[in-house]
Amino acid sequence: MRKKIVAGNWKMNYDLAETEMFLVELKKQVFPENVTIMIAPAFTNLNHCFKSLREHPVELVAQNMHQSEDGAFTGEISAKMLKSVGTKYVILGHSERRAFFAEDNAILAEKVNSAIENELTVLFCVGEELKDRKDGNYFEVIKEQLEEGIFHVSETAWERIIIAYEPVWAIGTGETATPQQAQEMHEFIRKTIAENYSKTIAESVSILYGGSVKPDNAAEIFGQKDVDGGLIGGASLNVESFMKIVNAFE
Ligand code: PGA
Repeated sequence: MRKKIVAGNWKMNYDLAETEMFLVELKKQVFPENVTIMIAPAFTNLNHCFKSLREHPVELVAQNMHQSEDGAFTGEISAKMLKSVGTKYVILGHSERRAFFAEDNAILAEKVNSAIENELTVLFCVGEELKDRKDGNYFEVIKEQLEEGIFHVSETAWERIIIAYEPVWAIGTGETATPQQAQEMHEFIRKTIAENYSKTIAESVSILYGGSVKPDNAAEIFGQKDVDGGLIGGASLNVESFMKIVNAFE
């Protein structure tokens, strides 16, 4: 059975006080046992969240990390540092990192290695731009992102990999992929993993959908055969809407 996952990607939102307000509300909630719940706050609030959520089934995710162990990289954060403050997961390859911070597949491959070596689990994001969707070459784009960014890892490393399909044209735009478009791409991703590794690995990897998931569309998207949950931006910033999405599985 694949893990069902709902992960909140807070992006550059919420300072310490706002994070604490969210946690107070979150801790009042009843969490379903069949869903792994994750939040990705800012680096500065990871340790606070770790301490605050110790008794609660909420996993902590970092939004990014540097590929090097340590060294002269002013302003950067390593996998080891993330681990040392209680973080077990890291988002790599988010389209905002690719677009605004020039992270290409080669850099992402190095980040993936460092994360795995440090026993972090990677939420690896792939997604095509609107132009790719219109040109009809979206499968090729996703295949290339997978091949260059993550298909170099060993078979055993797949225990530490989650894939998030996030069509760039659906992120923060209010426009979602239809459940059919999501299913079609998730099935393609799983098939591509099976071809490069094995059917067993492909069947065990959780593939999340991201891009304008909201309480009112989550159930239909999560109901697709190859969709194992969601990476949620905007709608994860409010406990009520986040929990509606967490509870949207059948
Ligand atoms: P959104 O963001 O839900 O606000 O579209 C998703 C993401 O960027 O992970």
